[in-house]
Amino acid sequence: MFNKLTDRFQQAFRSLTGRGHLTESNISDALNEIRKALLEADVNYQVTKQFVADVREECLGEAVMKSVTPGQQAVKVVHDKLVALLGESAVPLELSGSPAVIMLCGLHGSGKTTTSAKLALYLRDKQKRKVMLAACDVNRPAAIDQLEFLGKELGVPVFLDRDLKDVPKLALLAVDAARKQGCDTLILDTAGRLQIDQDLVQELADIKRRVQPKEILLVGDAALGQEAVSVAEHFDQALGITGIILTKLDGDARGGAALSMRQVTGKPVKFVTVGERPIDLEVFHPDRMAQRILN
Ligand code: GDP
Repeated sequence: MFNKLTDRFQQAFRSLTGRGHLTESNISDALNEIRKALLEADVNYQVTKQFVADVREECLGEAVMKSVTPGQQAVKVVHDKLVALLGESAVPLELSGSPAVIMLCGLHGSGKTTTSAKLALYLRDKQKRKVMLAACDVNRPAAIDQLEFLGKELGVPVFLDRDLKDVPKLALLAVDAARKQGCDTLILDTAGRLQIDQDLVQELADIKRRVQPKEILLVGDAALGQEAVSVAEHFDQALGITGIILTKLDGDARGGAALSMRQVTGKPVKFVTVGERPIDLEVFHPDRMAQRILN
């Protein structure tokens, strides 16, 4: 996803490190490159502006200008600012409660159902949790079938009821079932729509009120770029999300969503998905992501 951005950063860095010393003018050239690279990658305009201003200020400071290797120091400034932009450090899931309830929400096609399964696998295998999935997209039989299939494939129990249309009640029954079956973690796969609308918000808010999930994670499709960021903002305003899972980072999106999400929404990206297989879920580590972008 970041190939083009990486090339552009490398180009900017060559103009910094290729000279004996740094001047305001060659810093400006490099920063212009970086600004253009970020905007072309579909990073939010304000985020780009602030990022470049912060880097400029620090690069023109004494610590960089008077260092033995100013070019390299400037590159380090960009790296550190990128890590800060991405959220500094990984933010773990809040898994208190018995069971700990994680509600996934997002638009139709964003990757909710497959991500529910990926998360179940991750929590079971990497965090030794006993996980149950619940199919809360009651109006789409295909979504229930899909979750049931994925659960069977992974050996994770799936709570479903094809006749019950009262979603908050279904979620409560799932909590009960998880308790009875000794599951310490329950993942709710909720309904999506092509656009966020009042019915959807109401349904999700009702689940939240009844079940009080510790985590409400917005599943956002990175391929939507800035649109993914505004979808996350909308869900946050309506529901109060606790974090974001950014999907399809293996695709050909330009990376803007990954780079703007934290800053614009104020909510941490907790995981990313990088493929269609159940194992294609990664904890979001800002420093590793910055490395991936820069190298
Ligand atoms: P939902 O409607 O939000 O539940 O979306 P699904 O979970 O059904 O996913 C929609 C499509 O996106 C499916 O074909 C998934 O396989 C695909 N998908 C989900 N996550 C990823 C990902 O990280 N990479 C790729 N390449 N495809 C993904």
